This record gives sequence, C-alpha cells and structure tokens, in this order.
Amino acid sequence: MMTDITIALSKGRIFDDTAPLLKSAGIVAQDDPETSRKLILATNRSNIQLVIVRASDVPTYVQYGAADIGIAGKDVLQEHGGAELYQPLDLNIARCKMMVAVREGFDYEAAVHQGARLRIATKYLQTARDHFAAKGVHVDLIKLYGSMELAPLVGLADAIVDLVSTGSTLKANHLVAVEEIMPISSRLIINQAALKLKRETIQPILDAFAAAVKK
Ligand code: ATP
Ligand code: MG
Repeated sequence: MMTDITIALSKGRIFDDTAPLLKSAGIVAQDDPETSRKLILATNRSNIQLVIVRASDVPTYVQYGAADIGIAGKDVLQEHGGAELYQPLDLNIARCKMMVAVREGFDYEAAVHQGARLRIATKYLQTARDHFAAKGVHVDLIKLYGSMELAPLVGLADAIVDLVSTGSTLKANHLVAVEEIMPISSRLIINQAALKLKRETIQPILDAFAAAVKK
C-alpha cells in the first residue's frame, strides 16, 4: 500500500510552471485550479492530492505536516525562515529578482551615502531588514500587502523592496530599480518527518522533478 501524499502549491504562475514538472513525475491534476473553486484537487494518482493555498502560506502547511511537499518562492521562504523544511531542489521556475526601487529622480546613492534614514515600504519585512542591516543603512519599514509601487508616488516611502521580472510595472509608474537584493526562483520543500516516513513515495517524485528541472 503506497502512502498518501499531499502537495501544496499556489495557483497562478507557480501552478502553471509546476504542472509540467508534476506531469514528468506522472502526476496530473483532475481540475484546473484557475476555474475550479475546489481547494483540494485530486490527481490521476489515487494516493496523491494537491492543495491550493496562498503562495505565502505554502511553507506553513508543509512545516506543520498538513502537506508533505510544497512549492514556494525563495521570497516566501526567506520571510518564513524555513524552519523544519527540507529544501532539496531549486526548480528554476517563477524566476525574478528581489530589488530596491525608487521614484525616478530620487538619488538613492546620495541618500545612502549621506546616512539619511530611509522609509521603505514592502511586503518583505524580513528580507528588507536583513538587506539594509547588512549595508548599515538605517530604515523605517512600512508593511504593505500589495501594490508597493504606489508608496513612493504618494510619499508613503522613499523606496520599496519588491519582486521585479520585466520591470514594466516599475516603468509604468515612473520608478527605477536601484539595487538587486537576490535572485528569486521557486523551490521544492519537504516536511522532514514525512520524508523519513514516506520516502518510498516521495523519493521518486523528487527524482522526477530533479530530472525535469531546466538548468
Ligand atoms: P497575490 O498576488 O495573490 O498577492 P502572491 O504575490 O503571494 O499573492 P503570486 O503573485 O502568485 O502570489 O506569486 C507567487 C510567487 O511567484 C512569488 O512568491 C514569487 O516567488 C513568484 N513571483 C512573484 N512575482 C513574480 C514575477 N513578476 N515574475 C516571476 N515570479 C514571480
Ligand atoms: Mg503577486
């Protein structure tokens, strides 16, 4: 009897980029999460189900063992802290960059050089705190939940810390990226206890993902 496995992932780009990897592991969802309202999706494999959760909630489900396996962005893992998660594989999907951006014409280098206290709006408090602490820049962090690009335009912040891929959203809002904090991609995460107890089911999935990852 094969063990039951739950895989947590978010819809949108993570699901879109993960579906081919799942397929190469012989796993196909029975419903499309974009059109279905179901939160638990059966797959073609009777012992494997998918749960569809908010991207930032994926590590929590895996940490507590409510899901055995998850797929989460490095941005999300950085904020979560990664406690109790085994992170064996960079899937090289949903790639973008964590960046500092400011309003066009704002002299970021000068502000940093002068030791000015900067107001930073972001959803990524931990990442921003670590980045500016390492640079020795004093910052006031303002937590936002979305549309960070607006903050410098209305005087809420001097700068934002956000994910950038093409840069078109920044450009449309007259913002410029001034510093790269880290490259971002999504990783496979596995509950450590589940890996020990269900290795005969999890290991082949891990191997198939590893073989299918685009370098
Ligand atoms: P929501 O958009 O519902 O607030 P979210 O931003 O957490 O939630 P997504 O926008 O689906 O969710 O992003 C999921 C993951 O995809 C992020 O955690 C990040 O790793 C990655 N991602 C986010 N934005 C981009 C982007 N512009 N290009 C590539 N990958 C991205
Ligand atoms: Mg988003």
